[in-house]
Amino acid sequence: MRALVKESIEPGHFSMHELPIPVPGKDQVRIKIIRAGICQTDWVYINQGGFALKPPVVLGHEIAGIVDEVGEGVEGFEIGQRVLTQTTYHVCGKCRFCKQGLYNHCAERKGLGSAQNGGFAEYVVTWKGSVMALPEEITFDQAACVEPMACGVHAMAERCPVYVNDVVVVMGPGTIGLGVAQVAKAQGGIVVVAGLTADRPRLDAALKMGIDRVVDIQTEDLEAIVKEMTDGFGADVVVEATGNVKAVDTAMKVVRRRGRFVPMGVFTTPIELDFHTIKKKELDVYGSHAQVPTAWETTLKMLQNGKLSTDLIVTHVFPLSDWEKAFETVSKKEGIKILLDPTK
Ligand SMILES: [Zn+2]
Ligand SMILES: [Zn+2]
Repeated sequence: MRALVKESIEPGHFSMHELPIPVPGKDQVRIKIIRAGICQTDWVYINQGGFALKPPVVLGHEIAGIVDEVGEGVEGFEIGQRVLTQTTYHVCGKCRFCKQGLYNHCAERKGLGSAQNGGFAEYVVTWKGSVMALPEEITFDQAACVEPMACGVHAMAERCPVYVNDVVVVMGPGTIGLGVAQVAKAQGGIVVVAGLTADRPRLDAALKMGIDRVVDIQTEDLEAIVKEMTDGFGADVVVEATGNVKAVDTAMKVVRRRGRFVPMGVFTTPIELDFHTIKKKELDVYGSHAQVPTAWETTLKMLQNGKLSTDLIVTHVFPLSDWEKAFETVSKKEGIKILLDPTK
């Protein structure tokens, strides 16, 4: 099968390979992939490396397709069934976190597309516990977006509390930011999405999704706008979804005293942060790392009942054979969520 392999930890070293079709072992399912989303994390893995990356490995962790073969001990799935897979390939199943379904904290966890061959290929083998049947009305395009949307659900519906009329500022209008913004909106928040001038199409998409206010931080004063919206106090909640140090500095200014700060962006090196602000403002900090099974369930339901939409988020679908063009599009920040179609 064709597969895009990250060959080593060095920047680059990412290309198409011909690999044998993987065989599902005990408790495993093979999926014929119909859609695989390209995540900012994939871009970081390719260009900067990352702590979870264990090359050589097929990248891609946003995966939807049909059940192709099942291993021993797998029940409840039929060949040809439409499914998605969560990103967990292996967990210990015994630690305190596994017992609570918090697989993102299991020390033994191996994820698809980082430590284990993932979705930028024609087939993937995954753990049966990660496979979820797709409701009829959910398309493969939507299904491939459940992972980034689940990151937003985890942050805004499981980690940080959001109350009715809270002013929630989301820094970064990428897929994650737009997911976070919609979930905050569904929780009753008044939501502001902030981005750069180059993010204009993404900010426009946010407005079309019903987000209350968008701010171009290069031409507008975010701090002043938020103060005006909050009687001078600042935002109740600020989410950092850019992975940019400047955004963290801005977040510290924009958040109100006794407000909530949610770091979500991926940094591959330690960053400087005005630590004193956390103390002085008495901030609550809710770190939010990836997602957990409960967030996937909630996301699917929100897509079904229309509280979350990916229609304006998916902007491109490229055949796997056109992968170079797809990654060029990601690099140029054209579009929002770019999907690969490994059947072509
Ligand atoms: Zn992702
Ligand atoms: Zn565990």
